[in-house]
Amino acid sequence: MDLPLLPLRGVLVFPSMVVPLEIGRKKSLNALEHAMLADRSLLFVAQKDTRQDDPGPDDLYRVGVVAEVKQVLKMPTGGSKVVVEGLTRCRVLDVRDDGEFMTAEVEAVGEETTLTDEVEALMHTAVDLFEVYIKNSRKMPGEAAVAMNIDDPGRLSDTICASLDIRTQEKQEVLEAFGAADRLTRVSDILSRQIELLEIEKRISGRVRRQMERTQKEYYLREQLKAIQRELGDADEGEGEIDDLRARLDAMEDLAEPVREKIEREISRLQRMTPTSAEAVVVRTYLDWLLDLPWTTVSETVLSLAEAEQILDEDHFGLKPVKERILEYLAVQSLSSELKSPILCLVGPPGVGKTSLARSIARATGRRFVRVSLGGVRDEAEIRGHRRTYVGAMPGRIIQGIRQAGAKNPLFLLDEVDKMAADFRGDPSAALLEVLDPEQNQHFSDHYIEMPFDLSGVMFITTANVLHSIPRPLLDRMEIITIPGYTEEEKLAIAERYLWPRQVRQHGLVAEQVTASRRVLAHVIAQYTREAGVRQLERELGTICRKAARRIVETKKAPVRVTVQNLPRFLGQPRVRHWAAEEEAQAGVVTGLAVTDVGGDIMAIEVTTMPGKGRLTLTGMLGDVMQESARAGFSYIRSHQTHLGVPQGFDETTDLHIHVPEGAIPKDGPSAGIAMATAMVSALSGRAVRPDVAMTGEITLRGRVLPVGGIKEKILAAHRAGIATVLIPEKNHRDVEELPANVRRSLSIQTVRHLDEVLNITLVSEDGHGEKG
Ligand code: ADP
Repeated sequence: MDLPLLPLRGVLVFPSMVVPLEIGRKKSLNALEHAMLADRSLLFVAQKDTRQDDPGPDDLYRVGVVAEVKQVLKMPTGGSKVVVEGLTRCRVLDVRDDGEFMTAEVEAVGEETTLTDEVEALMHTAVDLFEVYIKNSRKMPGEAAVAMNIDDPGRLSDTICASLDIRTQEKQEVLEAFGAADRLTRVSDILSRQIELLEIEKRISGRVRRQMERTQKEYYLREQLKAIQRELGDADEGEGEIDDLRARLDAMEDLAEPVREKIEREISRLQRMTPTSAEAVVVRTYLDWLLDLPWTTVSETVLSLAEAEQILDEDHFGLKPVKERILEYLAVQSLSSELKSPILCLVGPPGVGKTSLARSIARATGRRFVRVSLGGVRDEAEIRGHRRTYVGAMPGRIIQGIRQAGAKNPLFLLDEVDKMAADFRGDPSAALLEVLDPEQNQHFSDHYIEMPFDLSGVMFITTANVLHSIPRPLLDRMEIITIPGYTEEEKLAIAERYLWPRQVRQHGLVAEQVTASRRVLAHVIAQYTREAGVRQLERELGTICRKAARRIVETKKAPVRVTVQNLPRFLGQPRVRHWAAEEEAQAGVVTGLAVTDVGGDIMAIEVTTMPGKGRLTLTGMLGDVMQESARAGFSYIRSHQTHLGVPQGFDETTDLHIHVPEGAIPKDGPSAGIAMATAMVSALSGRAVRPDVAMTGEITLRGRVLPVGGIKEKILAAHRAGIATVLIPEKNHRDVEELPANVRRSLSIQTVRHLDEVLNITLVSEDGHGEKG
């Protein structure tokens, strides 16, 4: 039998099914027309690939259905809508294509209708499964009910299969199954799979729904919260703030992901809080800190050594060796960024320009400058911050400094490292070590901030007044540069070139309005200041300028000329008493030399005797080392009584009391050894001590004089005080070479090896003169 053939895409026609179809392809329309002219019968065969527009005989399946066209409806677009009814399954034997449409030679396949037990059982299964399927699937096809009552096994499977929403290929397989049992088995398989799929689908959609419900609920609650807050009058503010914070976060470029995430989390946390709650305040402060820190901000640094040198010279007089060291340090830094250069530590008394040097270095390298004082810091948390669980917690000083700098590579001056103290709250120097250690400071963690901050770009400089109180491990990490203090001449030059012009300017004056000669400046230095640095000097000059400004404003007369004669009208009477000149030779009073926090200084040592049993009393806040040193001297004197000319057996009849005035200032160290011993001998023997001699040196039990530190500072102090002769340990003679020539000239510096020599030089003989020297 030959029939016109109509290829199907995406649908199948089963026997005894009524199916509506749309026909649009030219060849198919031709086939339809041909059928309508004959007996309205057509062969419907599915094409294997639905994407093909003009399939050939090989592109079609080999089993199809002959159907009768029940109705044709011509469409205005040229296509047709038809309703067909499937009649018989056919095997396609041959397909021909004459260009107008395809014709097929077919052979009908007989349907099996006998009900064996097996087929009946299979039918039950299929129906049961189909029921489950219908229940689970929301789309209930019209044919479904019909299928339940069909008692022909072949038709049952066809009807079920046609109503399923499955792939064409699967349906085709059912179509090609000729035996009833085979067809039923296939349909049951398909049904089970479909049921399973439906179940999975249901589970997924359940999950999606729950998720959506939760977000919706949260959204709803949040809106409600906002409404409540709006009622309370603080919502707008809160919202604006959150937007603000987000905007600030967005403006931060290149922020490391963990930091950004942390900030985002905190912002969301804040959003959920009542804006006025205590907790919100904490979070807000925290966010402020996080958003303010220069996580990625770097200030452009420049480094031209020539320029740096020029800037250093511009800002500071003298200090040659110090400037050289700084330039070398900068040179090394510019050569190798990997080699982590050590931390510079500027050591010297106040007012010698440590801070201003650091400021200059910052200027010379184009870094921002921050200064943090460590004086009095005794708690680790001051360096590293408090955990946020503390009320009023804050980041430590390092992070505070960084925020102040506004860049992650500032020059960071840590002032007064020698004034830190450790106590039960932890050792701040340990925390500082971590800050300064180039290995560790890349990930410096502040307890408050919680996120590691990179300090490796920071240039740290520390300052200290004295070395001995800097914790050892910290000291090891630093490169020490000492600035011992200035001579009168250096001070004069500094005053003339820097301090005076600056003070004049700062007081709103110009050079023509107030003049002070070199002599006046020298006078101020000598009569009104006694210090190693120039801080007090600068203050005095400031006072002169202030008074001069007032005079100019009041009398409208300029210039004001400051002279040596009228100086007291500006500064009052000279305050500094010159030591030796007015002193009379006395027994039991010796001038010692010391280095304190404010530089070198002279100190009086007094000894008095009283009836007793050879006891030694020490007062004046003397440290252990100093006390031991006094005892060593005492023992030497006891064992050399005759030789030293002290009363025989004094240690049975006499007590000694050593006092070092200015008792409020703690003193320590071995360097007053020879001075204390000399004072004891003088007091015991009644021989007076030359008041214009000062001395320093440690004493041994055998009376030998050992070298001590700080010679340069001490001699400068003696020079300031107008001392004529300074005794220093012989081993210290090299230190003298570092002194300015004019100091060396104006003082007699004598080296000593033994206490006997000291006594020879300092003790006045009965006729009132020193025996030697
Ligand atoms: P420190 O930090 O050592 O206590 P400062 O840096 O505060 O000292 O210095 C005090 C003042 O003295 C500053 O105004 C500084 O400019 C000035 N000064 C110190 N040494 C010099 C110097 N060599 N040349 C010019 N000015 C100086």
